[in-house]
Amino acid sequence: MKENSGLLIIISGPSGAGKGTIYERVLTASPNMRRSVSVTTRDPRQGEKEGIHYFFKNKDEFKKMLKENAFLEHATVYTNYYGTPQKEVFENLEKGHDVIFDIDIEGARQIKSKYKDAIGIFVMPPSFEILRERLVNRKTETEESLLRRIGSAKSELAQHELFDYIVFNDTIERAVEDTMNIISAEKNKISFNKEKIKKLLN
Ligand code: 5GP
Repeated sequence: MKENSGLLIIISGPSGAGKGTIYERVLTASPNMRRSVSVTTRDPRQGEKEGIHYFFKNKDEFKKMLKENAFLEHATVYTNYYGTPQKEVFENLEKGHDVIFDIDIEGARQIKSKYKDAIGIFVMPPSFEILRERLVNRKTETEESLLRRIGSAKSELAQHELFDYIVFNDTIERAVEDTMNIISAEKNKISFNKEKIKKLLN
C-alpha cells in the first residue's frame, strides 16, 4: 500500500438496520471521504440523483459494463443488478481519500477476497424484535416481505465472520460515533502507517 493511500470501508447489514443513515452521516462528517457510487438497474427513488446516489442503467448497459470488467464487485439484490465501478474507487484511494461503500453481503465478500485491507463493518439493530418494529414502522412492507427481510437478516448475521466490526444501531448518534471511532482507530494502526513510519525513520 502506498504511503498516502486511503482506507476502503464497507458498510453492510440488513435493510432496516439504518446503515444508509450511518453511511450518509459519516460521509458528511469526513471531508476526506468519498462515496463509492454504484451502478444499479433499479428505478430511481424520490430524491435520488444520478451520479450521486447511483448511476442508473438498464440491464443491457449493466451487462456491457460487466463484460468490460468495469466492476470491482457486483451482485443481484432481489431482481436488480448492482455493481461497484472500480476505476473511480482506485483513483480516489490513490489520491489519499478514504472510500466508503454501502453494499450487500455478497459484494462485501467479493471485495474482502480481492482487497485484504478493506474494513468491513456490519450494522445490526440491537435485536430482531427491534428490526421487525422498524420495518413495520416504515409501512413499506407486506407481511411476506417482512418475513423475507427478517429471514435474510438472520442469514446475514450468521455470516458475521466476514466482517471486522459490528455496530449495534440502538441510537443513530451512538452508532455513527462508533463507526467514526472504528475508522479513526483503523487509520492509526501501525500496519496502515508502515510506509509513513519508514519514511520518518530514514
Ligand atoms: P437499495 O436498492 O435499497 O438502494 O439497495 C439494496 C441493497 O443493495 C442494499 O443492501 C445495498 O447496500 C446494496 N447495494 C447497493 N449498491 C451495491 C453495489 O454496488 N454492490 C452490491 N453488492 N450491493 C449494493
